[in-house]
Amino acid sequence: MTKGATATAQQQSANGSRGAAAPAPPPPKSAGASADADTWLEGISHEGLRRVLEGVAQRDHDQPEFLEAVHEVASSVQPVLERRPELVDAFAMMCEPERQIIFRVPWLDDSGAWRVNRGFRVQFSSAIGPYKGGLRFREGVNLSICKFLGFEQMYKNALTTLPLGAAKGGSDFDPRGASDSEVQRFCQSFMTELYRHIGNRMDVPAGDIGVGTKEIGYLFGQYRRITGRHDASLTGKRLDFGGSEVRPEATGFGVVFFADCMLADAGEELKGKRCIVSGSGNVAQYCAMKLLDRGAKVLAMSDSRGYVYEPEGLTKEQLEQIMSIKASHKGRLEQYKSDSGQYVGDRRKPYEIDTQIDCAFPCATQNEIDVDEARHLTDHGCKYVIEGANMPCTAEAVRHFEEQGVAFGPAKAANAGGVAVSGLEMAQDRVGIMWTREEVCKKLVEIMHSIHRSAKAAAEEYGTTLAAGANIAAFLKVAEAVQAQGAV
Ligand code: NAP
Repeated sequence: MTKGATATAQQQSANGSRGAAAPAPPPPKSAGASADADTWLEGISHEGLRRVLEGVAQRDHDQPEFLEAVHEVASSVQPVLERRPELVDAFAMMCEPERQIIFRVPWLDDSGAWRVNRGFRVQFSSAIGPYKGGLRFREGVNLSICKFLGFEQMYKNALTTLPLGAAKGGSDFDPRGASDSEVQRFCQSFMTELYRHIGNRMDVPAGDIGVGTKEIGYLFGQYRRITGRHDASLTGKRLDFGGSEVRPEATGFGVVFFADCMLADAGEELKGKRCIVSGSGNVAQYCAMKLLDRGAKVLAMSDSRGYVYEPEGLTKEQLEQIMSIKASHKGRLEQYKSDSGQYVGDRRKPYEIDTQIDCAFPCATQNEIDVDEARHLTDHGCKYVIEGANMPCTAEAVRHFEEQGVAFGPAKAANAGGVAVSGLEMAQDRVGIMWTREEVCKKLVEIMHSIHRSAKAAAEEYGTTLAAGANIAAFLKVAEAVQAQGAV
């Protein structure tokens, strides 16, 4: 034991995030994330809501991402609580996860050395269905990030119209620095603890950053080996062992289906629009693919090291090249080759391109657009921002978009397509059937349109934005279920 612990500590400092403690998250960029009492309660006049927020800040003052997410929703639901003060207790309940599990994930690297990472599963709410939400394997993953993602998931899942509760989890293990066999051993060790907390009627994880079809395969294999059950305990599986058609494409396609509704409201369409898509992972790739189908121009895509800029828009072949580079965790956009475009490195982001930009689809990670980047977008004509990633725009960036009259599609609504098709995967697994690609796609379009309708209806009823409308519609669904079930 002592030998292992010592070896691990030495390796942590030597090897960074593959086996080390998570580095501190970036400092919060928004005022909403500050636990400073005045800033934290800014704009909140409802007495009961102020008391709830004071309690959250006191308990979770060291969790900036989580505080930011709570503040954003609290501001939106304040008018609802003024009409229906009896729901304040439900909001308080919804700010505290039902269960938070933190566990050790030991594994052996290719040289036979011991490694240890930290695993998380935050089971946020099972009020309207079993816990449901992805796993993220990335340097820097910590409790605050899992709680913020789980909190957001609760609202997103409620919007899908499906009976899905909310959870999120992951680890500070980063597959980008690991070999395939190390990823497999890590996934098996992670599941050796996680299996006791999940199940098809209890908690159903899926993928997120760093967890794609391959990792879900390893996780599912270990779950099946330990439990002896081949059930719908994980979604995002391959088609040949219980996956659903369209699950890989669902989040990115869904973002574009949601954008279709937003543009239609303004009497416009995506055809010919000049778009930036950030990221080049699962969500970004399929968002870009559907944009090309719509006849839009995708001017740029990015990764954590830089971005690709194509002044005339990516061709289908160029997008395929990016998808093939990114098929491996080690793939970098700097490998991209083109005579018509360029690669810009040094960790620069595409929100600096000096050209007309009509629409931005941030599909990489949280807080990737700050207020300066938001200004650059509006200075270059941007009229639509639709969030593919979770909370990619800081609170100040969102405020700037609102002030400038930009139509803003919030993540909780716009990127719900992934979890919606995960819900459809659970339904197919339980009954033992498989819908065709056309059937799943049709259901996905219907769900994204229905999410847009309910967010818009709530926004009209309360005289607010689409983003606040999405929060309100989702809040009402979960809060009423919480209230009906009593203080449990
Ligand atoms: P992914 O396949 O792992 O891709 C993530 C992409 O974002 C990669 O291109 C990555 O670059 C880039 N990225 C990650 N961290 C970054 C950073 N700090 N700065 C700049 N770029 C960064 O993950 P994904 O599944 O597409 O998820 C992307 C976002 O969508 C996340 O916010 C996730 O929570 C959200 N989301 C995903 C789903 C889903 O079904 N997958 C559903 C709903 C929401 P590198 O390649 O260099 O790492």
